[in-house]
Amino acid sequence: MRLVVIGAPGAGKGTQAKLLAKRFNAPHVSTGDLLREHIEQDDAVGRRVRELMDAGSLVPDDIVIEQIQPFVESGSFIFDGFPRTIRQAELLDGMLAARGTPLDKVVYVMINDDVIINRMAGRQTCTNCGSIYNTESNPPRHGGVCDSCGGALVVREDDSPVVVRRRLDNYHNLTEPIIDHYRSMGLVFEISGLGDIGDITDAIAKELPKR
Ligand code: AMP
Repeated sequence: MRLVVIGAPGAGKGTQAKLLAKRFNAPHVSTGDLLREHIEQDDAVGRRVRELMDAGSLVPDDIVIEQIQPFVESGSFIFDGFPRTIRQAELLDGMLAARGTPLDKVVYVMINDDVIINRMAGRQTCTNCGSIYNTESNPPRHGGVCDSCGGALVVREDDSPVVVRRRLDNYHNLTEPIIDHYRSMGLVFEISGLGDIGDITDAIAKELPKR
């Protein structure tokens, strides 16, 4: 399976990408998660991206491409958070064309900004496995503790309201144009990010090739 999941921060794209990865047995590749791992390890990449990420800005393409390259080469991936600009989409097109392994689908999870800002207000992320909860709509069974792995839940620095605004602006200006790029290739499946999480996954799965 080769899939790109696009949506604004907080649209539920990460949740859907994870569920689809399980269902289709393909690696879930969140560039945000991969970059946060580098920050945690405090390695050279982590030191280059920490400030940019905390500020809600995009990190340089060369770093991001390095993160996703092994998955493109493996021929199986569900990208979450990549590509984020037309340039990144074109770089990915080139890499896939060179291998003769086109995308199966681009899933566009749609939601409006007001809903996102409300959602992000209660968003908590597991420090261990990256699972995402919401104190209103999807609370953990025990406050502050991850249901899946028992890890501690925190509010990410870049989920603060001011930074969320910046991330949304980046999304509208830089990422949304990608949807038309993929539309012209006939790859886009659009779905509302409102509603039951499992129902949304089912609706997306129906559109994907059976393997
Ligand atoms: P996310 O977890 O997808 O919301 O990503 C968190 C942050 O990681 C973003 O705000 C960017 O700073 C950085 N990031 C993740 N993916 C990319 C990408 N494809 N291009 C540039 N920056 C990215």
